[in-house]
Amino acid sequence: MTKTRILVVEDEQAIADTVIHVLENEGFVVDWVSLGGDAITSLNKKKYALMILDVGLPDMNGFEVCKAIRAHHNLPIIFLTARSEEIDRVVGLEIGGDDYVTKPFSPRELAARVKVILKRVNQAPTEIVHSNKLQVASSGCDFLLNNQLLSLTSIEFKLLQHMHQHAGMVMSREQLLTAGGFAHDAGYERNIDSHIKSLRAKLRKFDDNEYIKTHRGFGYSLNEIT
Ligand code: CA
Repeated sequence: MTKTRILVVEDEQAIADTVIHVLENEGFVVDWVSLGGDAITSLNKKKYALMILDVGLPDMNGFEVCKAIRAHHNLPIIFLTARSEEIDRVVGLEIGGDDYVTKPFSPRELAARVKVILKRVNQAPTEIVHSNKLQVASSGCDFLLNNQLLSLTSIEFKLLQHMHQHAGMVMSREQLLTAGGFAHDAGYERNIDSHIKSLRAKLRKFDDNEYIKTHRGFGYSLNEIT
């Protein structure tokens, strides 16, 4: 069986060592680089299942790395940051991060999050989407809207798939958390808003219709995409 390969991008050796150690203990193969530029090179050379990306890097920040690779790679990304400001968390998720861990963090907690995200990504789609406008991409983990690749993150893919299967129904944040494979922590409820905002922007890029509706106090619904 091929082992799952993870890329760790972190310039502080002590933190990198801790992360590598805990991930290797969980059976993952880990590559480590300390610069954003090296991360981009590595991703173009090898196939990674997930990337752990420090926000404060010497050459470019983690958000810039994420933006630079998102057009070509849709692997899950967990941001590491020393700063705990809300703005960072929201920015990170809006530009395509899947999760967010603030330093100092528990290595075990990080490993647990890695496993949750990989499990969610590896779950086969439960239903095929039937629509001419919206189609599952050949990779099986992205959608085409009007024949254009949406370049969704794994969470956005799950959310769109779930909402499309329940088109017209108002879904609460809690239901969407379950669909996305999130834990039901209070902090995660706001994350759903960030993911929906990003998903909405990606849909708008290739279609003028406003598919996702916000229902204040209730949640979100998706108009049928036909
Ligand atoms: Ca750093």
